[in-house]
Amino acid sequence: MTNTSRLESTQLTISKSEVMRCTVCNKPKHQLRPRKSKLVLGIQLFLCDECFAGKKEPRWAIILVARSQGHDAVSEWIKSNRYVGDPILLEELVD
Ligand SMILES: [Zn+2]
Repeated sequence: MTNTSRLESTQLTISKSEVMRCTVCNKPKHQLRPRKSKLVLGIQLFLCDECFAGKKEPRWAIILVARSQGHDAVSEWIKSNRYVGDPILLEELVD
């Protein structure tokens, strides 16, 4: 198998199956694991293996909950870096 044909078969696989995006890191994945959000009740997350293993929550969910319930409610996520994206600043957590 040459490099070219391997590349073609990869592209074929992607175009054939539906690509979903991870709720947390927004990376396109073929397989996501469903998990209920621990921060926002009733929200269903679809996580890639990495975010699932890291018990991550979406960055917006952390900010949303911090604003409504105070940043103590999300300190576990912020301290352990259990989100993806730019560092969450204290200024973002207060109105
Ligand atoms: Zn992810």
